[in-house]
Amino acid sequence: MNYNFKLLEDVLGNRITTDEFECALYSTDLAPLPGIINLLFKTTPDAVVRPETPEEISEVMKFANKNRISVTPRASATSALGGCVPTRGGIVMDMSSMDNKIEINEKERTVIVSCGVVWKKLEKVLNINGLALMTYPSSSPSATVGGWLSSPGCGVGTLKYRRVHEQVLGMEAVLPDGEIKGYSEKENHKFLGSEGTTGIITMVKLKVRELPESVSPHLLTFDSQEKFADVIQELVELKPFNISYANRAYAQMMKDVQGDNTNPDFEFRILVVFDGNKKEVAESVKKLYKIKKSGGIGVEPAELAEEEWGDRFNPMRIKRRGPTLLAGDLLVPLSRLNTVISKLGKININGLGIEGSVVSENKAIVMPMYLTDERKFMDFIFALRHLKKMNDIAVSAGGIPYGTGLWNSPYVNKILGGEGLKEKTGLKKKIDPHNILNPDKYLGAKLAIPSLVFHPKMYGLSMFLAEIAAKPLRFVGLIK
Ligand SMILES: Cc1cc2nc3c(=O)[nH]c(=O)nc-3n(C[C@H](O)[C@H](O)[C@H](O)COP(=O)(O)OP(=O)(O)OC[C@H]3O[C@@H](n4cnc5c(N)ncnc54)[C@H](O)[C@@H]3O)c2cc1C
Repeated sequence: MNYNFKLLEDVLGNRITTDEFECALYSTDLAPLPGIINLLFKTTPDAVVRPETPEEISEVMKFANKNRISVTPRASATSALGGCVPTRGGIVMDMSSMDNKIEINEKERTVIVSCGVVWKKLEKVLNINGLALMTYPSSSPSATVGGWLSSPGCGVGTLKYRRVHEQVLGMEAVLPDGEIKGYSEKENHKFLGSEGTTGIITMVKLKVRELPESVSPHLLTFDSQEKFADVIQELVELKPFNISYANRAYAQMMKDVQGDNTNPDFEFRILVVFDGNKKEVAESVKKLYKIKKSGGIGVEPAELAEEEWGDRFNPMRIKRRGPTLLAGDLLVPLSRLNTVISKLGKININGLGIEGSVVSENKAIVMPMYLTDERKFMDFIFALRHLKKMNDIAVSAGGIPYGTGLWNSPYVNKILGGEGLKEKTGLKKKIDPHNILNPDKYLGAKLAIPSLVFHPKMYGLSMFLAEIAAKPLRFVGLIK
């Protein structure tokens, strides 16, 4: 479609482009896109805009609303569920230039921050001022404030300080009709975790904490999965800052990319991190040593624990063993972690790496990762189908896929629950009656064919059939 984007040039100057090459760069996120996507959606935007102020965002939204053009918010695109990939062309709104404000109030222990600021930069500025974030994503070196607040919000430190959404004291957002509005703590839920479907978050006020006096990581190893699964539950009672874990295959892949040719001598390992004042931390460590005394548990040297903790921002480094890394992302009851891991092990994948963390007293994230080659047609089709099996394993254990985006939209009923879905659908209709903001994501596809393909009962079969159909269509040039 040809839109008169010239009108937006008056507002944005050279921060709007319709250049085909530049627009194509905005047609994917971190994950490789299967051919099916081009059969169903128009993933290349017609224009990309880079606003610097809420007023500019407002003008873009008014233009889009008037012309019924879809707008897809996109920040650093470190998510991999298609949430920031357009489905109907239209405008991609690149939020990375909205990064000019970090206003700290040391007395209140709060910070007002623009949505395009990257988490690691925010943490650095806070640390200089004797403060620290309560929780942050392991994608902190690239992920933005607005991007992570739009996600389910679990990361490093969530175990102790809860999801990041609970630290948001207020925010400013631009609504689909262009209105710029401030929201109190009570109203934030309209936007938090909504994956850019209800409004554009421009600025937030966050609760932060005092920089801890001491941070103490400990690396435990286990000779059996059962022992690991028992101990991880005991560790939660020590109220650590963070607990992360990995299986032998994941550790092996990490060693390979580091050029270390020794084999891990454990089945699972746990990195547990305590923080606080020196006395508190010393007491927690004493309790940890009591647990460590039982059989089948090893303790790695302190330097290794420090190294592993320092490496927390690199969970996907195994991608270098590629060419293609696929990863599930599941949120499961901690009490079912052992069952989920056992079931994942029964999927026919050679060397399935598993990495994850504990995010509350009773919930854990599980990230099963495996390598494939997107250039090899059949290999890639079959590899992709494992992701659905992984989601189904989580659901059968009382868990959910972590995050929705496009790919997990068939699970939205499970993710939000019946009442939650009704509430969110009602809000979306009210706030965005023309379905302009990030359509076909989160609450499900609305276009006729995609809504059939992404129907929960059809999803597995349709993914398979559409992928088969993609090959000849690509060959005759009907799709890219
Ligand atoms: C190595 C690695 C580690 C990761 N670790 C974590 C983790 O610990 N926890 C976790 O939850 N995820 C994690 N992720 C996934 C991803 O990094 C997060 O979801 C991240 O917060 C996305 O931020 P982003 O700036 O890249 O946003 P994008 O990926 O660009 O966008 C994410 C979603 O937010 C929407 N959006 C972006 N900005 C705005 C805005 N200002 N207003 C409204 N909507 C907006 C987009 O439309 C999209 O739906 C990880 C990914 C990688 C690669």
